[in-house]
Amino acid sequence: MFYVIHLRFYAAMSPSISVYKSFSDKPDFEYICPECNVGYLVPDLTTFNVVEPQHSKAAQECEAWDPDWIVYRFTVTCVCNRNECGEVAIVSGSGRVDQRYGDRGESEYYDQFSIKSFFPAPRLFQIPAETPELVETLLDKSFSLYWADVSAASNALRASLEELLNALNIPSQEKNRKGDTVRMSLHRRLEVWSDKEKEYADLCFALKEVGNLGSHGEEVKTRHYLGTLEIYAHVLRELFENNSKKMKELAQSIRDEIKAKQRSKRPDLRADI
Ligand SMILES: [Zn+2]
Repeated sequence: MFYVIHLRFYAAMSPSISVYKSFSDKPDFEYICPECNVGYLVPDLTTFNVVEPQHSKAAQECEAWDPDWIVYRFTVTCVCNRNECGEVAIVSGSGRVDQRYGDRGESEYYDQFSIKSFFPAPRLFQIPAETPELVETLLDKSFSLYWADVSAASNALRASLEELLNALNIPSQEKNRKGDTVRMSLHRRLEVWSDKEKEYADLCFALKEVGNLGSHGEEVKTRHYLGTLEIYAHVLRELFENNSKKMKELAQSIRDEIKAKQRSKRPDLRADI
């Protein structure tokens, strides 16, 4: 099963990037390899190691004990299935016992596991090659934090957006009414960007909102995080990969040059030709 960048279309708005942190019984996920970006990290089931800590075993002495009190710790090694790469990633997390219903409606206990760390972390979308280095570094940090703490991952995503604005030469300081130089908020910087490239800047207000929740310690829903990732992936592709945008810019620069030459030869020429 391939989980990363799993395209789904719902009647309601849901992000098309789905990244599942949990699995049942045994690891069955495959993620794009962060080293070669071509192969998939596949769990080596011979390395899947599940341990029940002593405190969990000891709890069985209690009269009120129930199987859903059980906790597990697990590790599993994933190996890139592209032989010439062979990247190795270590995944770890926790587990518990849950109940499900079989085909005939009978209930049964099963083990449910939740991934808490993944190193090296897979990229949750393909970052365009021409993306500025710091923007990329903070995105990789966000992908890595996703497994442990979605709020922290949202914060790193917000920091990546700040770096994107730096790379686009959007100022980070301005003069206030008193004439003092003050730091511009991310909101204010997005407004400035919006004057130049409204279609991209306006999309990024959502990243600011979700990032703010993260910085204020509120729980950021995974769905919101993955939704903002999808928006950011789109904006980065448009800025650093999209040929139609580049062609538009090229066409505009050619027209601007020709206009400037015409004006220098014919001062009487109207500016709007
Ligand atoms: Zn690989």
